[in-house]
Amino acid sequence: MTTESETYRPEIEKSDEQWRQELSPQEYEVLRKAGTERPYTGEYYDEKTAGTYACRACGAELFTSNEKFDSHCGWPSFWAPLAEDKVRYLHDRSLGMERIEVRCSRCDSHLGHLFKGEGFDTPTDQRFCINSVSMKLVEAP
Ligand SMILES: [Zn+2]
Repeated sequence: MTTESETYRPEIEKSDEQWRQELSPQEYEVLRKAGTERPYTGEYYDEKTAGTYACRACGAELFTSNEKFDSHCGWPSFWAPLAEDKVRYLHDRSLGMERIEVRCSRCDSHLGHLFKGEGFDTPTDQRFCINSVSMKLVEAP
């Protein structure tokens, strides 16, 4: 029997050196080293423009403005991804907390974390708390 983590291979695979060259230092730190941008500093936490949020590392479409909501947490928040197969989930036990890490399923880059049951008035009661620097907003035509 194999687990999902053993069989998973990202469609886009690059060496650490390649990612370092292609991404800015801040993008690299968040996307490839699972860093977190400081709250209320990202480009999109308060963004209301209609459009699609794509992975800044590989360009895969991940979230849309339709599922974005105001969580007042300082990071862009979504109640669902564009489609479930766009992201993958990992258990994250760093910082002494049980959290669910959210990654791009195409290139395995870190996006943010998923929190559940916080009582937000959204259809799923889930909050995808995503770093602005992990995404690029493509405005709707
Ligand atoms: Zn990606």
